[in-house]
Formats: sequence, structure tokens, C-alpha cells
Amino acid sequence: MNHNDLRNWSKRTADWAHEYHRDLRDRPVRAQTKPGATAAKLPKAAPEAPESPEQIFADFEAIVPDAMTHWQHPRFFAYFPSNAAPASQWAEQLANTISAMCMLWQTSPAATEIEQVMVAWMRQALGLPENFTGTIHDSATTATFSAVLTMRDRISDWESVHTGITHGPTMRIYASAHTHSSVDKAVRMAGIGQDNLVKVPTTDDYGMDPVALVSMIEEDKRAGFAPSGLVLCTGGTSIGACDPIAACLEVAEEYDLYTHVDAAWAGNAMICREFRHLWWGVERADSVVMNPYKGLGAQFDGALQFLRDPAPQIRSLGLRPDYLQTLGEDDTTNFNEWTVPLGRRFRALKLWFVLRAYGLEALRGMIRNHVAWTAELCTAIRALPGFEITSEPSLALFSFRYAPAGAKDLNALNADLLRRINDDGRIYLTQTMHEGKFVIRFTAGTFDCTREDVMSVLDVLSELSRKA
Ligand SMILES: *Cc1c(COP(=O)(O)O)cnc(C)c1O
Repeated sequence: MNHNDLRNWSKRTADWAHEYHRDLRDRPVRAQTKPGATAAKLPKAAPEAPESPEQIFADFEAIVPDAMTHWQHPRFFAYFPSNAAPASQWAEQLANTISAMCMLWQTSPAATEIEQVMVAWMRQALGLPENFTGTIHDSATTATFSAVLTMRDRISDWESVHTGITHGPTMRIYASAHTHSSVDKAVRMAGIGQDNLVKVPTTDDYGMDPVALVSMIEEDKRAGFAPSGLVLCTGGTSIGACDPIAACLEVAEEYDLYTHVDAAWAGNAMICREFRHLWWGVERADSVVMNPYKGLGAQFDGALQFLRDPAPQIRSLGLRPDYLQTLGEDDTTNFNEWTVPLGRRFRALKLWFVLRAYGLEALRGMIRNHVAWTAELCTAIRALPGFEITSEPSLALFSFRYAPAGAKDLNALNADLLRRINDDGRIYLTQTMHEGKFVIRFTAGTFDCTREDVMSVLDVLSELSRKA
């Protein structure tokens, strides 16, 4: 295959892509395949001789689409969305074509500078203050890991960058039980250890209790630990819990903790002014992450991390060996120094295309629709015989379960209902454990999702629960 072939196949692929998206509604949302079925269709070793593009493409069509879960399906209501607007897919095609490494300004000046401008556009769109700058990581996990590494090194005044963390008191990081497992992973990877991630109790609304935060910090100080950082969440993954950001950040300031707010999903809604009360006070955080791929259609990968001051993170992560010097341009921004991997994709391009192709007002309209339709569905499920709402809507997320009178093992009943819903294929939902109960999560957010798609959940639930 050469570049002439690529030209032809790109055109055919464009047609295939159009048909794929046009007919997506007719496919089951979750893959209806068994583990091992796809691997069994592939040869055991790579070919020695070239195969034709026709053959490769025919196998793709025969093997792949039916064995995929369709994340752009309008009735994908599982996990959190990973949505991909047409303008984003277009930008990714162009970024793929250029296939640049965007690690230094010199390796990709337009990528670096468009990234800086997109960070500024998004900062304004989200209502964050002017003194925030930032970068685009691959994922929120990487952004959170970067912030936790900064917490680790800052407490030793960056001694640990050279000596490791073998000296000094054991550090402590604080987070609520509703923060994402990426925080647990970050403290593990940072060498801080899971036992030193203190899970602070929450109040009745599932947000972190600032009073409990103070007493846990005090207790740790008395026991000789070194409180180092605080990770808060706006829109926890399980039920969309939001910590009281202002009150918790005030505590962090009192104890000189470095702070990070994980708004990977809910951050998208902050382009709408009316939702910003969910993260009031965020301007006092040191670091904030949001994933535009979880709501704005600038598809995976890409996580925007805003930093009040990038210097501490660069002190932890930035290395400039001889072979990465840019001669004569020592002051340019080299984004690899802000993050974990050296190599970086041109992720800003899709944000640039999406923000221009739709404009902020249309994106706000989409998010408002997702939130409003979610509330409407929640009200309808509440009225559905045998069903109960187990967590109220937080933006476009709520949870429920089937609890008909007299039913015994509700966890098993709901697990079975969920399995039948996803085998049915019209919609796709996932579960969480909430207050010891197996509950079913609903969240809306794909780019083509309509009100009818959301309300179709009601038909599936009433039909399949009757067959239980
Ligand atoms: C999705 C999510 C993450 C993880 O995001 P990745 O980009 O996949 O690493 C972390 N925190 C929250 C709150 C999330 O919703």
C-alpha cells in the first residue's frame, strides 16, 4: 500500500464512515459477541507477504464492526459518553495525515500554539480566571497523575526529584470516596501508596465533608504524617457526586495543600453558566482537569488540565536533555515538560475544529438538552411501577433500580435485568454500587442523541422488567 492507494481508500473510507453513522441506530449498542470470538478469526501469525487493501478492508468489514460496542450510537447511555462530533473526526483525519510528534515547540509549532490558544478559549468558555494556563494530556488519568506527582515533590521542596521519597515523614493525600479510581492509581504510581490516600467522609449530598477533612488532617499531623495534597471531584463517576469546592479549598489553603479538581465529565457542562454552582470556588484550585471528549464532541484522546501556575508541575516532570534542546529558542513552550509521555499527538486540532464548526452556543444547547431529557426520563422512571430512583440527577446522570413489592434479592434481580437490557441491544446501560445496592446508571451524551432516544429507555425497561 502506498500513498496513491491511500488516496483511493480514504475516499472509500469516507463513504463507509458515512454509511456507518447513517445506519448506527439499527445496530445493537453493546457488542453481542463472546470473549475470544474475534481473535479466533485472525491468523496466528503476521503474514510474510503483502496482502491487498481489498482483502484487508473486506476482513475489517467482516470482523470488526459487529464485534464493537458502538460508542457513537445515539442510545449509548453507559459509563460516561466518549462523543465524537463530525468536525472532530475530520480534524483527526488531518492530524493523522500529518502524524507529527508534538513534544517540543520546534517539532510542531502550529500544534503547540493552537494548543495554547485552545486552552485559552476553553478557559474562557468554562468561566475560569485569566491566570490559568494549561495543556492537553491524553487522559484525565495522566492529568491527575501529573498533579499527584507535583503534590509529592512539592512537599519536599523538590528534593524527592533527586533522592526519591525515602526520607521525611509519610505523606498523605485526601480525597472523597466518590473520586475516580484514577486517583487511587495515581498515588500508587507516585510511590505514595494507596494506604496514604485518605478517603474523607461525605455529607448527605455525597460531597466531601470539610469538617471531617480538617479533623483528618489534624489527626494525621498529630500522628507525624505530612499532609500534601487534596483531590476533589465535580461529577464523580458513580453517581455524579460534587464536593463543596470552595469550602474544601479553604481548608487546603489553611494547611498549604496542593489541590487538584477532577471534573473529567462534569467540566463539560461548565460552558453553561447555570451549572457553575457545582464547582464554585474552582478558581482557587492549583489544577483542574476536564475531558472535552466526555461531552463536547472533541473525541478521545484529550484531557484539558488547567494550572494556576505550571511551574511546580514542570519542576516535577520537565526534563530537557541535550538531544531535546531547541537551539536559539530556549524560551518556547515545550509541552512534553508539562506531562508524563514525551511523544504527544496533535490533540488541539479537533478542539479548534469543533469549537468553530458548532460554536459555543450550539454546544451549550446540546448539553442543556442532555440534562433536560435526563431529568424527564428520571421523572418517568420514578412513575414506572416497581422502579425506584436511587440517586437523583446530577447533570445528565442518575441511577435507579427495579424493586417490585415482595422481590427478594434485588441486587441479583437488577443484575439480571441489566444483562437482558444489554443483550436486547436497543440501549446500553451500566451499573454501579451505591450505598451497598446494585443500581443501574443512566447518562446521556452522544452527539446524535435525541429526546426520543432517551425516552426509549422507558419502553425497554417496562417491556423487559415485565418478562423478569
Ligand atoms: C472518565 C473519568 C476519569 C478517567 O478519564 P480518562 O481520561 O479515561 O483517564 C477520571 N475521573 C472522572 C471523574 C471521570 O469521569
